[in-house]
Amino acid sequence: MMKNKILTTISLLLFGITIYAQQENQSCGTSVPSEMWENEFQKLISEYKTNPKSQKQSSTVYTIPIIFHVIHSGQPIGNFPNISQGQINSQITVLNQDFSGNGFNSSNYPSNAFVNWVITQSLPSANTDSNGRVKIADVGIQFCLATKDTNGNLLPEPGINRINYLSLNLPNPSSYSTQATMKSYLDNILKPQTIWDVTKYLNVWITDKNSALNYTGVSSVPPLSGLLGVPNNSTDTTDGIWCFAKVIGSNNLFPTGIYGSPLVEGRTLTHEVGHYLGLRHIWGDGSCATDYCDDTPPAASENTGVPSSYPLNVGSCSSPSNSPDGEMFMNFMDYPHDPYKYMFTADQATRMQTAMLNSPYRNQLGTHGLCSAPLGLNNLNLNDNISIYPNPAKTELNINVSQNDINELSISNLFGQVLIISQNQNRIDISNLTNGIYILAITQGQNKYTKKFIKE
Ligand SMILES: [Zn+2]
Repeated sequence: MMKNKILTTISLLLFGITIYAQQENQSCGTSVPSEMWENEFQKLISEYKTNPKSQKQSSTVYTIPIIFHVIHSGQPIGNFPNISQGQINSQITVLNQDFSGNGFNSSNYPSNAFVNWVITQSLPSANTDSNGRVKIADVGIQFCLATKDTNGNLLPEPGINRINYLSLNLPNPSSYSTQATMKSYLDNILKPQTIWDVTKYLNVWITDKNSALNYTGVSSVPPLSGLLGVPNNSTDTTDGIWCFAKVIGSNNLFPTGIYGSPLVEGRTLTHEVGHYLGLRHIWGDGSCATDYCDDTPPAASENTGVPSSYPLNVGSCSSPSNSPDGEMFMNFMDYPHDPYKYMFTADQATRMQTAMLNSPYRNQLGTHGLCSAPLGLNNLNLNDNISIYPNPAKTELNINVSQNDINELSISNLFGQVLIISQNQNRIDISNLTNGIYILAITQGQNKYTKKFIKE
């Protein structure tokens, strides 16, 4: 790996900074949890494994509501970094597939993956599959777009809180070029001013970033009772995840999104949510260091880019030896490009379930009724090129399409009753509507698109 790093450095020197700016390699800024934190977490994991009540709860499927704070400076929706609902929807799909063990390319898992490691480590059957491999885990944790804001009002765009940083007089997030300054900006400025209740929502901030900033995501680790004050632990004004806007969503599922090649399959957020739920990097953030999971073989360091075939880096660690199966480069907690990683293990799932059961900022997530899908949501985003503004609106709603291209506009309430119809217009008078949430249907030739809006 050191050789790769030297080669990368040489290429940077030869080809200049432009190449570096165009290619986003995954690297994350999540702090390594303290020893004190890990000791406490290990106690909770032991309790979780031995307590019959916890055993029963291991089958619990949690659903975590996410609010994406999309930070922009006035770009229309769908223009970077004010990314579209469709792109964000595709990210939720990626998370749900990845955390249930059915992620993109998981069928590429080699037929003999880590079968020797299973034997030498005497891994229990809970960690293995019917082929004797280390199992690709169903973590038992799913995700939804939050449907309501902190006041209980339905969100016009599920899971999305769009924030123009200029209107809050906040600095431009892309002016911070180092991990330290970016972290300070996030924890001291952006997050405290925009965060939603951390016991109800997983807060994810999406921004542009400085091209010299060499990481694309950062997460807090789950705070544990009694350890709320230790350094690097998150607080109720900082807990959550930050990601570069171009690594959110899936090019596969939503091709018209805006992505930063090669991190185009939404795996950066999968990785950061792993940290958010207590996972460490697969190489233990040291040479052959532990990630406290018995079913992940040790690794000499991170694997980046396009890994060569399995087995990879055989014998890179000797105590214990990872020969002949090598390193688990396809684990989400390693760094290869998005298409080449597709698994969490059962021991990683146990850590995440332990965090959900015990962390005071995690253990209430999913219990506030923020995930139910209101009427009309399914076809909200048939066309992300069509947008309506302002939203919320007081007197008039505008559509960003020429009036010659619109046959009919109709507004209905959430019960489906049509209240207003207009023809051949790209604006509609809503001054007579009572305050609340409505659905605007836009008919264009054979196509009908629906958008939700708030009248205030
Ligand atoms: Zn990481």
